[in-house]
Amino acid sequence: MHKNRVKHPSHGLEFNVAQLLKETTGAVRTYEIETDLQGDFDDEELKIVAPLTGQVRFLRTGPNILATGELQTSIEKNCGRCLTSFTAPVAIELEEEFFPTLDIITGAAITQPPEIEAANLIDEQHILDLAEVVRQELLVAGGTQLYCRPDCKGLCPHCGQDLNAGSCNCREDVVDPRWAGLQTLLED
Ligand SMILES: [Zn+2]
Ligand SMILES: [Zn+2]
Repeated sequence: MHKNRVKHPSHGLEFNVAQLLKETTGAVRTYEIETDLQGDFDDEELKIVAPLTGQVRFLRTGPNILATGELQTSIEKNCGRCLTSFTAPVAIELEEEFFPTLDIITGAAITQPPEIEAANLIDEQHILDLAEVVRQELLVAGGTQLYCRPDCKGLCPHCGQDLNAGSCNCREDVVDPRWAGLQTLLED
């Protein structure tokens, strides 16, 4: 038995590849993607705030299908320095092989090796679902967007003032951590 797939609502990322599976190695399908994922993939680490757009290609490779593509959207994050939320464009590149679980000609079940991720299985209805591999790539791409802007000054560690909005009064008193130990010695 192959692994159970997690069933999602349709994300506009599900493709019936039955016809492609009947064709010979080298056969290609190309699809333009424009789908609204807002809310569907959201968790603490990923908040999508724009449609997902781009193009994907499916290439018949022996018994399998190689999916490649370039997709873009925007995500919302909290800045790692000043904590305010900001949106950033993210682009991902896909290159994932998908494996059938049913022989298209004979209808016989195909047992794929356990090291193949459930997300990379084509289901018994010959549906190739890109949703999980796209979600994983968006997570990786979103993880590199750390700050609202490269020169974000962050918050004052003492009073919490957003230093992008102006400096606070306690900046003079901040002790360089390299001298903190020395100061403790002097106070003793
Ligand atoms: Zn910031
Ligand atoms: Zn301050």
